[in-house]
Amino acid sequence: MQSASARTFLATPIEFLKGVGPDRAEILKKEAQIFTFGDLLKLYPYRYIDRTQFYTVKQIDNTQTFIQLKGKIKNIREIGEGRGRRLTAVFYDETGQIELVWFQGIKWILKTLNTRDLYVLYGKPSLFSSKLNITHPDLEPVNENRSTPEKGYRALYNTSEKMKVKSLDSKGISKLMKTLLEQLKPEHIIENLPQDILSKYKLVDRYNAVKNIHLPASLSLQEQAVKRLKFEELFMIQLNLLQLKIIRQREKGIVFEKVDDKFHRFYHEALPFELTNAQKRVLKEIRRDTLAGIQMNRLLQGDVGSGKTIVSLLAMLMGINNGYQAALMAPTEILAQQHYIGLKEMTDKIGIKMAILTGSSRSKERKNILKGIETGEIDLLLGTHALLEDDVKFKNLGIVVIDEQHRFGVAQRAKLWKKNTTAPHILVMTATPIPRTLAMTLYGDLDVSVLDELPPGRKPIKTVHRFESQRIGVFDFIREEIKKERQIYIVYPLIEESEKLDLVDLQNGFESISRSFPLPEYNVSILHGRMKSEAKDYEMARFVKGETQIMVATTVIEVGVNVPNASVMIIENAERFGLSQLHQLRGRVGRGAEQSFCILMSSFKLSNEAKTRIKTMTETNDGFKIAEVDLQLRGPGDMEGTQQSGTIDLKIANLATDGPIIEEARKAAIALLEADTNLESEENSGLKYFLQHQKAGSSFWRKIS
Ligand code: ADP
Ligand code: MG
Repeated sequence: MQSASARTFLATPIEFLKGVGPDRAEILKKEAQIFTFGDLLKLYPYRYIDRTQFYTVKQIDNTQTFIQLKGKIKNIREIGEGRGRRLTAVFYDETGQIELVWFQGIKWILKTLNTRDLYVLYGKPSLFSSKLNITHPDLEPVNENRSTPEKGYRALYNTSEKMKVKSLDSKGISKLMKTLLEQLKPEHIIENLPQDILSKYKLVDRYNAVKNIHLPASLSLQEQAVKRLKFEELFMIQLNLLQLKIIRQREKGIVFEKVDDKFHRFYHEALPFELTNAQKRVLKEIRRDTLAGIQMNRLLQGDVGSGKTIVSLLAMLMGINNGYQAALMAPTEILAQQHYIGLKEMTDKIGIKMAILTGSSRSKERKNILKGIETGEIDLLLGTHALLEDDVKFKNLGIVVIDEQHRFGVAQRAKLWKKNTTAPHILVMTATPIPRTLAMTLYGDLDVSVLDELPPGRKPIKTVHRFESQRIGVFDFIREEIKKERQIYIVYPLIEESEKLDLVDLQNGFESISRSFPLPEYNVSILHGRMKSEAKDYEMARFVKGETQIMVATTVIEVGVNVPNASVMIIENAERFGLSQLHQLRGRVGRGAEQSFCILMSSFKLSNEAKTRIKTMTETNDGFKIAEVDLQLRGPGDMEGTQQSGTIDLKIANLATDGPIIEEARKAAIALLEADTNLESEENSGLKYFLQHQKAGSSFWRKIS
């Protein structure tokens, strides 16, 4: 069979490739997880160089990205010591000269460079102390390989220092790749996309894509290869997600038959306000889901303050109304506590038994709660991920709400399904909006509801940027606001690696605030992650009750904390926060009817990215817009929550820039599954084989088989 030969070839251990051998094989495995021929082919280039175009030194300026020069090297010198150690040299041609600098791999470079050879240099010129130089250029002697001068585009590969020592730099990898591609035959690369998708989306076949991503003969062939491989990668993700969705829809789901007494009593007696139209619409969507006889898996997106909590409570009430239990899982203890305090008054009114379980619940209390859940005495359980533990057994869990889901992984979500023999309904809520492309990839298996309306009477928060030198004015402003009986948050950054240091910042800040706002006029609370939970509760409660006017805190207050009387959010070192975090923090104010303010404090020295973040914050309150900017700035890899999710381990596609391809891939996947849900047609056999192969290592996706 065709596939057998393909499998054998691609599975050939890398040491069997000419030019590899045991030593280099060891390094390739350790440093780049390349074990087989197939793995090597999946090491994609990060950039291409147009081999046909040369610059001269005179033509260089610092606006160019990567360029190619031809010339010689002189004055190779090692300077500095320890961390300041570097290697410099001068590169020259007939038009002028430019400095080269290396900070790493100095030993190896010293060994390979000489002043005799003519070199081709690839590199990116940059301006350093108003002088142009090129750091870490790629250098290749011209006389090498003279017999086969290369034309067209040359791929560049990222490799590690350890690889470079074994001459496995970009050039070394290119050589191996060439050797491998010479042996590669069309039958080794099984086409995994059906023909009609290839033609419909104008994609090149897989064999040519693999070849041309590494050794493109022209720019257009390279572009086609990239597009094809990106599409393939995104298409497979969509197919997996959509298949998962279909499988779930085949399983029986709990039906919440009626909504009457408890629900209606709540609606009329306990609900303190009229729902927004958006909230009503979403509730209808949830109602439809929970009546349908299949498991609900819904994502609720809504900006900070759009009122997701009450929607989730009403959804849980639908379940409780039908004799089922409900659970709400929050990412932090503080948030779980907040929900408990916020919901208790309402749930007490209609006699719903609610409990809270977190990591710090005392063992006796914990025992009681566990019993209450098992006997069904407790209707509604709040908590952190402590809810996921195996000894938390429900009598009949009907619905689970996951608040601020971006902090939980897909696997954790799956764990909840097993808390009842019939999987409970799942409602996932995001803390802040996430961009559409990201949502499609991270939550592509869920149905989506959007709360696109804020409760009435909210005034948009006014956001300003202030420098340290303007602090006195800021403090005067605080005093005025407190005079109007408003409350103030002052937040300090907390970054995990330097938690101790930041705590010092926070303590200093607290002391300086306490000095600037002395008793008895002003009371100041402090809150940070290292405090015992009783102390946290105490400080939080004082602020909630209005006994303190100022809350000095770290980002522990970021998530979901709700004190409507707080009208000023001051963020210290705002340049150190990411955009979504800034937006989250800002969302802690503007919850009452009063005008609220957010003041972003920073030093003068700001990176361009920090400037963009701060500017974006001062220009818009729209969380969806902010999420888009965030994605563009940071790329999906750094977006909060994407690391843990495990679903976006992308090798070639980029969620920030490949939006159109994601849309196409999803559309194609939907159409394909509609026509052939189980991939049984001959046309889809290559795809089916590929998916089975790909899934072999992942137990989670096995649910699909
Ligand atoms: P988020 O979507 O950020 O989780 P919350 O659910 O915490 O927002 O709601 C923010 C605030 O708005 C809360 O104080 C809540 O009681 C209030 N709220 C929610 N819905 C409405 C509404 N329809 N009318 C008035 N206030 C509302
Ligand atoms: Mg919330």
